[in-house]
Amino acid sequence: MQKLSLLKRLTNRRQLLLSGLALAILSPRAIQAKEEDAALTMRSRHAKPAPQNNGKRIVMIDPGHGGIDSGAVGSEGSEEKHVVLEIAGHVRQLLQDHPRIDVRLTRDSDHFIPLYQRVEIAHQHGASLFMSIHADGFTSPDASGASVFALSNRGASSAMARYLSDKENAADKVGGAKVEQQDHYLNQILFDLVQTDTIRNSLTLGKHVLDQIRPVHHLHSEHTEQAAFAVLKSPSIPSVLVETSFITNPREEKLLGTTAFRRTIATAIAGGITRYFDEYDRRNGQV
Ligand SMILES: [Zn+2]
Repeated sequence: MQKLSLLKRLTNRRQLLLSGLALAILSPRAIQAKEEDAALTMRSRHAKPAPQNNGKRIVMIDPGHGGIDSGAVGSEGSEEKHVVLEIAGHVRQLLQDHPRIDVRLTRDSDHFIPLYQRVEIAHQHGASLFMSIHADGFTSPDASGASVFALSNRGASSAMARYLSDKENAADKVGGAKVEQQDHYLNQILFDLVQTDTIRNSLTLGKHVLDQIRPVHHLHSEHTEQAAFAVLKSPSIPSVLVETSFITNPREEKLLGTTAFRRTIATAIAGGITRYFDEYDRRNGQV
């Protein structure tokens, strides 16, 4: 009975397709376990950051890399996986008393998680927003500054976006995860993602994060870049990847090693998240 009324609500093909696709990225076991949650998800508009957890929205922060995958390494030996875990911890701390936001981390210790599992964790928690935090490297030590990325299914928006997405997507090879089949599945999903609100919301989130970083740190790119990052392939959760700095730039490696800078970047990220939800609520008349 409940399912019948649910079907009636799915008034067009796009909604039907997206609802099914949102489930498709979950493993069969997770689908079974989360059937009830999925029904709830399908009842609402797919990209809506629905209130969760006593009215709080769940924000999934994803510290990049971990365990066997150290991420990029600076010339002084700083490892990306440790730096981004620290920054993510600051974001959680900064928002811990927020009345409407509940921050959770995909990892809060040094262990490896395959990229598709990071997306799955966000879905299992019913996250309204997903943000992967990085501090990658480039072939030239001159590259510097922060940038924010959203998903693209039309190719990368710049050479750097392509370089970084290729590098990030190779993380699962380091950990030996078998993700090819999963990724093939996701490519079909991407075909319809263009039409969804998810990427649009991701770009709005990216803009707010960049606006907050701009006054406190150099930006490598002024606008949210787009590339086919595997970790951003949630069909229903607005997702961005924040490159806080280049760990291969000697000056930025030093900065990334300081608590002050980590906290500055975390404050900008937290500010971007709250402003994104404020704008979302304003647009949807919830304030
Ligand atoms: Zn990275």
